[in-house]
Amino acid sequence: MSGSIVLFGPPGAGKGTQAGRIVDLTGKPQVSTGDMLRTAVKAGTKMGAEAKVYMDAGLLVPDSVIIGLIEERLTQSDAVNGVLFDGFPRTIPQAESLANIAVVESVISIEVPDDAIVERIVGRRMDPETGDIYHITFNPAPSEVESRLIQRKDDTEDTVRARLEAYHTQTAPLAAWYSERGLLISIDGNQPINQVGDAVEDAVRTTMSV
Ligand code: AMP
Repeated sequence: MSGSIVLFGPPGAGKGTQAGRIVDLTGKPQVSTGDMLRTAVKAGTKMGAEAKVYMDAGLLVPDSVIIGLIEERLTQSDAVNGVLFDGFPRTIPQAESLANIAVVESVISIEVPDDAIVERIVGRRMDPETGDIYHITFNPAPSEVESRLIQRKDDTEDTVRARLEAYHTQTAPLAAWYSERGLLISIDGNQPINQVGDAVEDAVRTTMSV
């Protein structure tokens, strides 16, 4: 049980939402490159400032930046028994680099059609204190946290379209890449959150022997 898991899918597929269940089930830490980049932006680092230009435009941050972040993250002690990658890898060069530094045991692809994605992302809200993710219609927040919810700057309709375009051209080809390596499990992400969660949990149990 020392390998890593990749949560794969378009923006808004529910990767961040489902990650919590996998963390609870496996004890592996969640490694989200999107969260790491947002932390760097907030901290005002040089790398954060550079990444922000790409993020705000809905484009992928260059591979060299992302691979550097991951290499550093994997040296931390909590990563020795594998991690849960969320939103990484997003290009074939990223997957090739990852294959050199970690063992990926399972790639769980959450599939959602584009038209559903736009509705999901535009209604998405985040609790900045806990990182919990809600949706104004599909997954409303409890009233006590409602007033502090924020909308991500890149969760607007125009930026979502750019992110989907980046997904289809640069990230989607990775599904075949992982499938050829016998690692890809596809899940229908266009169903209620708990049902997607059950399917994700089954996939983890089958492939990771938990
Ligand atoms: P996410 O929170 O995963 O949707 O990521 C938000 C934004 O961060 C993306 O739209 C990209 O601009 C950038 N990003 C996150 N992860 C990656 C990655 N693995 N490769 C390139 N860019 C990334």
